[in-house]
Amino acid sequence: MKIAILTGAGVSAESGLGTFRDVGGLWTQYDLNDVATPQGFARNPALVHDFYNARRTNCAEAVPNAAHEALAALATGAHDVTLITQNIDDLHSRAGSPDVIHMHGQLMRALCAACDASWDAPLVMSPQDPCPDCGAIATRPDVVWFGEIPYHMETIAHAVTSADLFVAIGTSAEVYPAAGLVELAQGRTLEINLEPSARANAFDDHRFGPATQIVPAWVAELR
Ligand code: NAD
Repeated sequence: MKIAILTGAGVSAESGLGTFRDVGGLWTQYDLNDVATPQGFARNPALVHDFYNARRTNCAEAVPNAAHEALAALATGAHDVTLITQNIDDLHSRAGSPDVIHMHGQLMRALCAACDASWDAPLVMSPQDPCPDCGAIATRPDVVWFGEIPYHMETIAHAVTSADLFVAIGTSAEVYPAAGLVELAQGRTLEINLEPSARANAFDDHRFGPATQIVPAWVAELR
């Protein structure tokens, strides 16, 4: 069976990485216009680097949980699995998932806004870091901000359209175009989340509860 999986911040919540929209989530502590838009970066690059430096440290200290591990195990079985994530953390890869599609970029990568080169980010980035390729002082985290176009959209659309099963895990379905992917699905659709998301009605099936319990149980049924 061809399975396309879309994960969101909820899959990493039990690894200690905060989600954005839950009570106490990151957006209640920071204004997204300041730290997650190109305009915010132009206004105050030091603040934006501080924000992502803190996220990077949290990420480096976090470990993959049972949901990441179950999804990695699923990819080694009989099914043809495409794993798409909105997360910028690297927990799917560290759990062993191959070929993770990071539609919103990666916290652990840096990007030159002048020449588009990208490289492994140091734990602490600064606005003064020069690009190793062109030398420009235009280094930013390689993450997709609000108002920017997510990566790999063609590959993602093809994977979702051609899948027999599309599964969204731990996403509030508030951020587009990720939230609209369910509309592309031709096969069966399943939402796994703590509670019904904003697009819950668009899914055929639902399983509600913590990802570390629901995802391993679902994977065990499929394998
Ligand atoms: P979100 O914060 O908007 O929503 C998280 C969803 O996960 C909610 O619906 C919540 O009910 C659910 N959830 C919380 N704990 C859960 C658990 N233990 N098990 C199952 N579900 C749980 O996140 P989003 O939909 O991914 O969209 C927000 C954007 O924020 C994305 O673009 C993503 O790039 C970014 N983000 C990434 C990280 C990360 O990389 N770990 C963390 C926060 C936000």
